[in-house]
This record gives sequence, C-alpha cells and structure tokens, in this order.
Amino acid sequence: MIAEVIVDIAASETDRIYDYLCDDDIVVGSRVRAPFGGKTVPGFVMRIKETSDVPSEKLKKVFSCPDELPALNAECLALAEKLTARYRVPKALTLRLFLPSEMRTGKVRELLRNYAELTTPVAEMKLSKTAKNQFGAATYLEENGKTDCAYLNNVYPGGVAALEKKGYVRITKEQILRDPYKTVTAEKAERTLTPDQQRAVKTICEDERTVQLLHGVTGSGKTEIYLTLIAKCLQEGKSSIFLVPEISLTPQMLSQLRARFGKQAAILHSGLSAGERFDEWWRLRTGEAKIAIGARSAIFSPLENLGVIIIDEEHDSSYSSESAPRYNTFDVALLRAKRNACKLVLGSATPSVETYKRATEGEFSLIRLTKRINQKPLPEITIADMRREVRRGNNSAFSGVLKEELEKCLQEGNQAILFLNRRGYSQTVICKECGYVAKCEACDVSLTYHRDENCLKCHYCGMKYNMLSACPDCGGRKLTYAGTGTQRIAADLQKLYPSARILRMDNDTTSGKEGHYKILKTFAEKKADILVGTQMIAKGHDFPAVTLVGILDADMSLHFSDYRSGERTFQLLTQVAGRSGRAEEKGKVVLQTFDPENEVLRFATSYDYQGFYDNEVSLRAAMMFPPFAKIVRVLVTGEEDKKCVEALRDVYFALEKLYTDNPDKFLFFNKMRAPIKRIQNKFRYQVLMRLSDTSILPDIYAACAEARNRDALVSVEENPTNLS
Ligand code: ADP
Ligand code: ZN
Repeated sequence: MIAEVIVDIAASETDRIYDYLCDDDIVVGSRVRAPFGGKTVPGFVMRIKETSDVPSEKLKKVFSCPDELPALNAECLALAEKLTARYRVPKALTLRLFLPSEMRTGKVRELLRNYAELTTPVAEMKLSKTAKNQFGAATYLEENGKTDCAYLNNVYPGGVAALEKKGYVRITKEQILRDPYKTVTAEKAERTLTPDQQRAVKTICEDERTVQLLHGVTGSGKTEIYLTLIAKCLQEGKSSIFLVPEISLTPQMLSQLRARFGKQAAILHSGLSAGERFDEWWRLRTGEAKIAIGARSAIFSPLENLGVIIIDEEHDSSYSSESAPRYNTFDVALLRAKRNACKLVLGSATPSVETYKRATEGEFSLIRLTKRINQKPLPEITIADMRREVRRGNNSAFSGVLKEELEKCLQEGNQAILFLNRRGYSQTVICKECGYVAKCEACDVSLTYHRDENCLKCHYCGMKYNMLSACPDCGGRKLTYAGTGTQRIAADLQKLYPSARILRMDNDTTSGKEGHYKILKTFAEKKADILVGTQMIAKGHDFPAVTLVGILDADMSLHFSDYRSGERTFQLLTQVAGRSGRAEEKGKVVLQTFDPENEVLRFATSYDYQGFYDNEVSLRAAMMFPPFAKIVRVLVTGEEDKKCVEALRDVYFALEKLYTDNPDKFLFFNKMRAPIKRIQNKFRYQVLMRLSDTSILPDIYAACAEARNRDALVSVEENPTNLS
C-alpha cells in the first residue's frame, strides 16, 4: 500500500504530500515515522492508495506509531484541510492544532513515569543559597507530596536530579496517576432551572438556526444553562465542547463541572503539564470522556458526534489566535457545528458589536436574560471625578468616596475587589534631568519597575534588568517612577489600612499551574479582605462576600488608538462591576475617571448595553469600521532588518497590485513600521488595509504566502485585537 504523508515540518519547502510504502495496519489519520532527508521525522497519513507515480525503487517505507487509534479522526482531517486552505499556512501547522504537544514531539505515551518524593525535610537540607531550582523543587515536594518529575523538571530545571544525588529525594517509577484537579473538591450539583433559564434552554433546542446568542446580564445564570445543555447531550449519547476564556476556569467552575460530570469531562488548558494534557486528550479521543472543556484550543478536541458547542464570554479577545494559523475560534466552531448539525451557543453579558449585529439582524437567534438569579439588583455604580479630587489636593490613587466605601466594607466584614489594568509597581522609570526612559534592549518598549524583586521587567518579552541607581545617559541621580501599577496600589492600601489582609492577582503572582487557583481560593475562603488585580479578576468569578468593586482607572483602555477601545472599555467595566453584590448583600461599584462625561462610561454605569450598542454601531457605520468593513494587517517580522524590508517590499508590491486592480474593495491601504518597532529582537513592519469587500481576502493570503522568505515571517491578521 502507498501512504500519502505530510511530514511534521512547518516550512513551505516541505509543505506537500510525499508518497511512502506502508503496511496494512496504517490507516488514514495515523501518525507515522518517515525517513526524510537522512533523518526520521514524524508525519501524518492523509490518504491511502494502491499505486504511486513515484518509481518504486525510490519509495521508502514509513513506520507506524504504536497508537491504539489513529491520532486524527475524519472530522479533524477535513477541518484541518479547510483551515489550511483558508489561512494559507503549511499543512503541518494546522495538523498540529489537533494534537497535544507531547504526542507531536514524537514521544510515545508512557505508561510508567518517574515520581519524586522527599526523604529529608527541607529544613534539614544543606543547600547553597544559589541553588534556586533545588530549593524550589524541594519546597514544592514538601507542600504537595509525591510529584511527577516531568512537571518539576519543567518548572525547576535540574532541581530534582541534584536533590537525588544528595540523597534528599527518592525517585520511583509508577503507573501514571495524573489527575490534574485532585485538589478540587466536589460541591452539590444540579439546580432547578428558573423559568427564564428553562425558556432559554427550550429556545436553544428548538430554534432551527445554528448560532444561538445568549445575552444575559452578569449573574443571570448562564452557566447553569450551559450545563443543562451539556447534560442533555450526554443523555442522548452526544458529546460537547465548552469553551471559556482561560482565566474562567476558576475553582468554582471546576468543582461544579467535576460534581456534575465527573470523568465524563476532560479539562484541557495551558496550565496542565504535558502529560496531564495528553491524558485528558486521549480520554476524548477514545470516547471515554465526552465533554471537552477548555480555552480556545479545545475547539480542536478529537470528539465525534457533537451535540453542542458553547463559547462563553464570546466577546473575549482570547478567542483569536495570535500565532499561525491565526484562526478565529468562532469560525472554527461554526465549521464544526455545521458538519455535526449541532447548535453553537454564544454567551455574554456584553456581546461583541459584530455578534450582536448579526443577532439583531436575524442571522443568529437572540435570547435575553435581563435579570439576575433571585432578582438581585445589579450593583449601583458611583462615578468619582478624579479631576475634582486632584483640584482638592488628593493626588493618591483613591478618591474620597472609594476610601469611605472601603472603610465601610471592611468594618462590616465584607470583601472588596480593586481593579487596575496595569501590573508592576510603576509603569516607567524616567530621568528627571535628561528625560531618559528605561527601555528593553530587545523590544522597543519602556520597562516596568517591580518593587518586590527590585528590578525592571519588560512586559513584552519577560526580560529582567537590574534597577538603575543612576541615569545611564547623563549620570543623573534623580530617577522618578511614573504611572501606578497593581504592586504600588497594594502597597499604598496596606499603608492606609494596616490591618487589612490584601491579596494581589496579576501575571506576576499567578505563575504555575495552580497560581490563579490558589489566590482565588484564598479569597473565596475569606482569608483576605481586599483583592487587587488586573483584568484577570474581571471574568467569571463568583465571590458572594464581595460588596464593593473599585475601578481605579476607568479611562485606561479608552485611549488606545483602536476602533474597539470603546467596546473593550464597556465590556471590561460591565464585567468588573458584575463581581459585586452577587449574594444577599447589595453591591456597590466606584468608578474613578478623569473623563466623567464620556459616553461609554455613562452607558456602562447605567448597564445600558442597547444604548451603548446603538451609539457604537452608528459610529462604526459612519467611519466604515468593522463590522461594516474588515481590517487586515499584514505583519512582517524577523531578526534581520534588511530581510524584513525585502519581504515587506515583496508583499507590498503584490498587495499594491491587488489594490490598484480592485480599488472598490479597499477603503484604506498603506505600509508602515509597526507601532512597536521591535519585540524580542525582531523587527516589525506592517501593511494596513481596510476592506469593504472581503472577497479579496484569499488573494491577500496568497500574496503573503509567496512573499515569506527564510528570515522574515509574513502573517495576516483579520480584525486584529492587538495593533501594537
Ligand atoms: P452568569 O454566568 O450569567 O454570570 P452564573 O451562572 O454564574 O451567572 O450564576 C449566578 C449565580 O446564580 C451563581 O451563584 C449560580 O450558582 C446561581 N444560580 C444559577 N442558576 C440557579 C438556579 N436555577 N437556582 C439557584 N441558583 C442558581
Ligand atoms: Zn523586552
């Protein structure tokens, strides 16, 4: 037999079908190991046929991988083909989306793994001060007991091996026993649906349109509706995919899912170790688990016979991929829903303008939930005018009313959440004498001061720099910090309320698999009074004792030069406000702004989604912005400036031809440097377009695929969420 094989190398030169001889046990969708250019590389079987045009003496033989089932099922293969054609990327790249990384790297599933266990308490170990990884691994083992070495090696490279040499650790081989959420305890499941929820479920099941938009205010019980739909599918023997923004897999959500579905659900997300992710994936592939839950990549789950696909918080920007292929989760979900003839349910309190437009025009069904469960009112939002605070001589980050409310909240033994979309201690370090701003060497962005580590960090590449004692340009010693971050807020709060227990949640405090989980759990157990955080805390959490939410800088996201900044701000404020007063106590929100007359803020404070939408959609129509047009950015990046410019020239030349041949399809066309000229030592250029007619898109993708050279990456972004 002959197998048509795609080799797993993501390069355009090798992006074609190769014929190989194969044994009968190899079927379509199998992974194989193929001799290729003197090496053996992994590959995928796309088709099986009787004969090949390649002369038989030139045909090599592929070896099968010991998988019990072919890795890719028919639906995945078909979907991969569609995505490859749509985004014009090497086939290997799209196929990779469907497999957990551990499988791809060629490692076969291990049934035995190494586990480490302490033989000596950490306190009795003699470790040198610089042995951070040994210390880290030992501490982790002391707190968590026996642990998979693969996980430890990932987080603390070399730590376990060094500890074992010293005799502090025992390593044993054991059957895999990976249960990613063993610390999650089950809570009572299943509630009786309210009449509103019942009506929603009924409509979703009966309406014949594929896409169903569930527009429900925060706390209206959308999650319960999703779970009911999933349970229904399970009863009918069908499978489901439930997508949430990564951060929404909160302790509450996890325990709810566990209680309800047990081992029927596989939870996939980036915080799992490769081994854990593999196991969860495998359970889906074999059909042992019928529910895939996870962030956007879970849309590629190897499930068959889908009954429903759910995208919660559908407006969330994490649903667009930022690496090739830059797919939009909704588009992939729609392809799968159509193929399976199942429903695609979108849920949000603040649907994206594009989605809502399609729903109001009748393309999607629209189901509204206007009340919170048990009729609890939405929290009252008070605007604090920060201009007036400054005039009154208050230069702190907290307005008078916020301080008053905080005091009341603490006195009553309730909890508060303070929200600021900026991590670190202060935004930038500036020399007062010459105006020097500390910048990252690899990226064209300013560095953020982190006081706890006394260092400067780049938030784009993660590089750390020593704190400056003098200005490197002029030698001046008057360095100031500008812009307040979450660290600074937490420190200032502690000064104001010395006895308050303050927690901070941002990218700096949530590393590790259970980073988020631990902080949220501590707060949920009322072991802290105030939670300070970035937008991470905005989504999906349900803390009954929170009665006050403070939004410290509501203007932040309004001033990005992005057509979606109004929409983002409205969404963010609504989400954050929704965290307050979810249980018996009435909730309050204080929103601080330097721009109290701003329309978006006014719509947000009155929870007027429709008002916001009408206003926004007429603006977009007047300006011809999405959803009335499509923004396309072609981004050229690479380490060598010259090669980038060459690629840019090639792609610009091809695109310009499209533009001059089809002037009526373009509203805007220009090439320029990207706003951030360099990130992680890569130069960045862009061609920016706005299309009134998207029929030209395939040609744009084709032009870009051609212009790609060895040293420059050319990628196409549609309505990019991030234009930096
Ligand atoms: P949303 O996702 O719309 O913001 P949630 O699903 O988080 O809302 O529900 C808000 C709260 O109401 C949660 O605490 C949830 O447990 C509770 N809840 C939801 N449905 C019901 C119901 N039918 N009966 C009682 N409580 C419910
Ligand atoms: Zn950097």
